[in-house]
Amino acid sequence: MHDALLRWFDANARDLPWRAADRTPWGVLVSEVMLQQTPVARVEPVWRTWMDRWPTPPHLATATAAEVLRDWGRLGYPRRALRLLDSARAITDLHAGQVPDDEAALRALPGIGAYTAAAVRAFAFDRRSLVLDTNVRRVLSRSVAGRALPPPSQTVAEERAAAALLPDDGPAAARWSLALMELGALVCTARDPHCGSCPLRAGCAWLDAGSPPDEHAARRRTQAWTGTDRQARGQVLAALRAADGPVPTADLVWPDREQLGRCIATLAADGLVEPVQLPDGRPGVQLPDGRPDELRPGVRLPGAPSADGRSE
Ligand code: SF4
Repeated sequence: MHDALLRWFDANARDLPWRAADRTPWGVLVSEVMLQQTPVARVEPVWRTWMDRWPTPPHLATATAAEVLRDWGRLGYPRRALRLLDSARAITDLHAGQVPDDEAALRALPGIGAYTAAAVRAFAFDRRSLVLDTNVRRVLSRSVAGRALPPPSQTVAEERAAAALLPDDGPAAARWSLALMELGALVCTARDPHCGSCPLRAGCAWLDAGSPPDEHAARRRTQAWTGTDRQARGQVLAALRAADGPVPTADLVWPDREQLGRCIATLAADGLVEPVQLPDGRPGVQLPDGRPDELRPGVRLPGAPSADGRSE
């Protein structure tokens, strides 16, 4: 299984900048945050813009929240942009501007969870760590467990099975994880796996079992988009990104005004917008200023001084 997959990876891996020989831990961290629930094709141009403008954590640490939200563009889930900004400030303050390679230090950064910490350790530092993203879970679910798709929530059994296949050597483990990810993205895709061109087809448990259907189909959520709060929030942010300053609330176009008001309130609670009063007295909304000496509301660095010196 390993030889077949790694040979395929050598011949088919995409040339992505966060995997290049000159990649930096910061570039890897930014890519991993951007790639959460967002496809490579949408991430790559934004990642290049970010890395040109903010090539290191200290560069990003000086940005304002409005700047990072503008450059985040339409990647979606924009709280990730603010978390990256907070991480950059924390890395600058607490780690002399260098992304740490220690799991506990990585997980203490704002918005960095178990998966992202494992991915940064593997892909930036060649450490042996278990990287289980959606693509890896799907490939292992089919090829090893014989299931159409993995369970909706990650299980201990999956982690054990994946760990058993992970090479002992750090760089080899990182390459193995990348190869599984790439196979899931390009060949063993969710809806239409290209089994005829798959390097794992000879021993694939799902194919051997006759390609049974997804046993968890009824539990999977399908996320609607049109008319949702997520769509309304995205429209508000798009309007603010396109404007030079505050926008009158009345000028924001959305059919359900009550829903619009609720979404502005949740965006403000998330630190993504600021309600303001315009000079003519009308209510308005703007991107947050978020000066470099501020961490987002709710961001705490346990046991460490914050950017402004308070102990949090
Ligand atoms: S043979 Fe098909 S189902 Fe099995 S791992 Fe390859 S692409 Fe996925």
